[in-house]
Amino acid sequence: MTESRLTVDDRLPADYFTRTLHQDVRTGLTAVPRTLPAKWLYDKRGSDLFEQITRLPDYYPTRAEQEILTQRAAEIAAITRATTLIELGSGSSRKTRLLLDALTAGGALRRYAPLDVSASAVKEAGQAICRDYPGLDVTATVADYDTGLPAATAADPAEPGPRLLSFLGSTIGAFDPDERRSFYRTLAGTLGSDDHLLLGADLVKSPDLLVRAYDDTTGVSADFNRNVLHVLNRELGADFDPDAFDHVALWEPEPERMEMRLRARTPQTVTIPALDLSLDLAAGEHIRTQRAHKFRRDALTTELQAHGLTVHHWWTDPATRFALLLAAPNQ
Ligand code: SAH
Repeated sequence: MTESRLTVDDRLPADYFTRTLHQDVRTGLTAVPRTLPAKWLYDKRGSDLFEQITRLPDYYPTRAEQEILTQRAAEIAAITRATTLIELGSGSSRKTRLLLDALTAGGALRRYAPLDVSASAVKEAGQAICRDYPGLDVTATVADYDTGLPAATAADPAEPGPRLLSFLGSTIGAFDPDERRSFYRTLAGTLGSDDHLLLGADLVKSPDLLVRAYDDTTGVSADFNRNVLHVLNRELGADFDPDAFDHVALWEPEPERMEMRLRARTPQTVTIPALDLSLDLAAGEHIRTQRAHKFRRDALTTELQAHGLTVHHWWTDPATRFALLLAAPNQ
């Protein structure tokens, strides 16, 4: 039996934690309202906490997407006949195994190329997949979507077969509409006429169900949210007291998105020595840490089409909570 091979290409710039984090934190925390980019939630502890969230009874997106993949993986393999599976924001790659099983069953798949900003997640997942899928090349990239996309999606001359690019977990919901448009255009320009995009999208539903998914009673979501403050304390020498912040999960009906925020319980002053910055937070003041846009079929299909991608298949779970769509560059 052929051995599997794992390569990990760490493309985070050497000064990632200094330059990029410094810029993000300075810009975000001095803005009105204050914000922090969600990617800083995912250090090793954050990635582990997110994995726990995906197993919570009220966190339906993972389970719903898994139901669709279980139903449709064989069909996806038959339609795409992919020899390479590229996955953005792959995390633990747990659901991806349903695709890997179907794509290797037909014998076509040669390479799995996950990309994630979390080095720990991508390495652990890469090793486990190598162990479990003999003969598969795993070429992992540690990078930000912004900088890593060209490398991760570059065609491999040694493997010219059709490629499937998956972006699961409704992570697309973290992008605002402008970011989504430029993301679609980049993908449409990179994917060839035989390639496909498999996109997971969480659907608009009752705010009650949405809020419960992001604010569980066990406190794991709250720990995940507060983890970003631990990251700032560790990387920037900041003196945030994470316990002085409440976890808030809020439905914003106008852009139809969930937001995670941290709300200061009391007035407090936080110093961030690495940035030479001191912040005065009022009691009740919010820091937004995550956005998760929710989608409707017509609007999502239309925006993909307008930016270079035609939706050929749209599948949902039986309860219509989540959609998985298969698209290809406009012909
Ligand atoms: N696809 C998995 C994980 C979703 S969580 C699932 O469906 O369960 C989102 C993942 O995206 C995390 O693993 C996180 O590390 C990664 N991520 C977040 N922001 C990112 C960015 N800017 N660039 C690359 N990866 C990012």
